[in-house]
Amino acid sequence: MNDKQLAFLRGGKTKRTLLTLSERKALHDVGMDEVHQTELSLWRECHALLGHALTTSQRRFEARMFLGSVMHSAVEDREKLRTEGWDPEFWLHHMRIVKLRDAERAGVSPKDLYYHNGDRVVDKKQIQQWAIEFTLTDKLGDVSLHHLLSRTLDYMEQKGYVVVANELNLSHVDGDDAYRVRFDGTLDFKVVDTEGRLGILDLKNYGILNVYLKGDNPSKVTLSPNEILFNTQLRHYQWLNYLKYPRERVAFYGIVVPTNLVPYKKSGAWGEAGTPKGSPLFIGDAMSHAFVMDYQSQVLTWLRQIGQRNFTKLMPTTFGKPSCPTCRHFDVCLKDTSATSVADMVSGPAFDYLRS
Ligand code: SF4
Repeated sequence: MNDKQLAFLRGGKTKRTLLTLSERKALHDVGMDEVHQTELSLWRECHALLGHALTTSQRRFEARMFLGSVMHSAVEDREKLRTEGWDPEFWLHHMRIVKLRDAERAGVSPKDLYYHNGDRVVDKKQIQQWAIEFTLTDKLGDVSLHHLLSRTLDYMEQKGYVVVANELNLSHVDGDDAYRVRFDGTLDFKVVDTEGRLGILDLKNYGILNVYLKGDNPSKVTLSPNEILFNTQLRHYQWLNYLKYPRERVAFYGIVVPTNLVPYKKSGAWGEAGTPKGSPLFIGDAMSHAFVMDYQSQVLTWLRQIGQRNFTKLMPTTFGKPSCPTCRHFDVCLKDTSATSVADMVSGPAFDYLRS
């Protein structure tokens, strides 16, 4: 039954949707009734990557993703972060919130959900240790994670950015039948600057998580205006924001990197000991409205191709270095003789090269 027949049965007009009924049905058939920006990025990187991700029955939950979500959850609770973030119980509370949410999404009981840090499964002792470490100052050069995040929020306020919403749900549902497709997205901050312009900001945990996961030193981050203008995640959120609030015009993007407020340990040409390494806020222009409309057309084209099961093995490279050998789907890709490219290599010398 198509859109028009459905509308006739309901005795009403056809509700305009981004995708036709058959396109939405095709997406349901490939298991993509929910669309996230990360899945589109995966598909753009290598079409087969998304194909494997959609057919892998057991999703692996990474500790990196878990700690990142805990940081976001803590910032969403920003008043308590400032007053109670010194207490490990505050962090354990947000770890429980994130775990419950992940378990619900995965459709499993929280006690059956495990996070992985490399080859290790994260146990209760590790969780408690992280909650304590987040309140201590030794890991981040005389500041705790709770101070770092609070100071980042203070910095934004001092620069005149008023937060009008944070952790804002921008989800859009396309269609109102059994084959509805949900475009999911949560925006970290929507702000207004001193000139009354609207901006959307993304909080990044660059340079921080490896401090807790690998024992690395916190690193400084620098971003150019072009890196902000072409940020794919913010572009996607700008489009979702347009779908939800069509009258709003986003004027600027921002990337928030708390790691830059970690102070230098020693004095040098780069700065004085005890002073922050840099600004935690990078601001740049947003895409024009015309480009947002172009982006919408692109997303719909990609989704039509995904619905048609275009999971071509693109064998991506970074500066000429092949990604396949380090891809977690490499073995599955090699065994799949139904497609060309990687499968062709099984009998060729390139196979040995990629294997090594
Ligand atoms: S092994 Fe290569 S071609 Fe296959 S999914 Fe991974 S990156 Fe794509």
